[in-house]
Amino acid sequence: MQSTNWHRVFIGVGSNVGDRHAAFRQAKLFLANDANIQAFQTSPIYETNPVGGPPQGKFLNAVWAFQFSGTPQTLLKLLLQIEQTMGRKRTVKDGPRTIDLDILFFDDFVVAEQGLTIPHPRLHERWFVLKPLWDLAADWIHPTLKKSVCELLDECHADC
Ligand code: AMP
Repeated sequence: MQSTNWHRVFIGVGSNVGDRHAAFRQAKLFLANDANIQAFQTSPIYETNPVGGPPQGKFLNAVWAFQFSGTPQTLLKLLLQIEQTMGRKRTVKDGPRTIDLDILFFDDFVVAEQGLTIPHPRLHERWFVLKPLWDLAADWIHPTLKKSVCELLDECHADC
């Protein structure tokens, strides 16, 4: 019998265009119904001010965790497909978006290649990522910074 290799994955979710709660619900449906995803968990949803980019509306942010059977590259492909299906347009850098899905952690993998960086390079600088991550996995260790999410959130309170 073939055994499936499941990876623990955390993704950051954001939306600041249209019906943001509906966008969260739709993206969650796409993921939770995928055959390569199981044990789906959601953090609380936070409303946050935009960081960087042009003037734009407030975001809803959350983190979702699940078990994924596949590679980081196949997960990225799936997330980009969902973003596209949901009508996300990449016109302005850091501009408004219907839905944004970022891979934060993929087990303790470190990936640095064209178009894919894991852990997400800015996750430790962003309260709107660290707080919902802390809600789900305060003790998770950042594989290159070698600090727990809890420690990163403590440090972030001072200046992010
Ligand atoms: P953004 O516009 O911020 O959603 O950036 C999306 C682009 O960032 C994608 O086309 C990916 O190729 C790239 N990218 C690099 N690292 C990651 C990651 N950890 N999660 C999601 N996208 C990533």
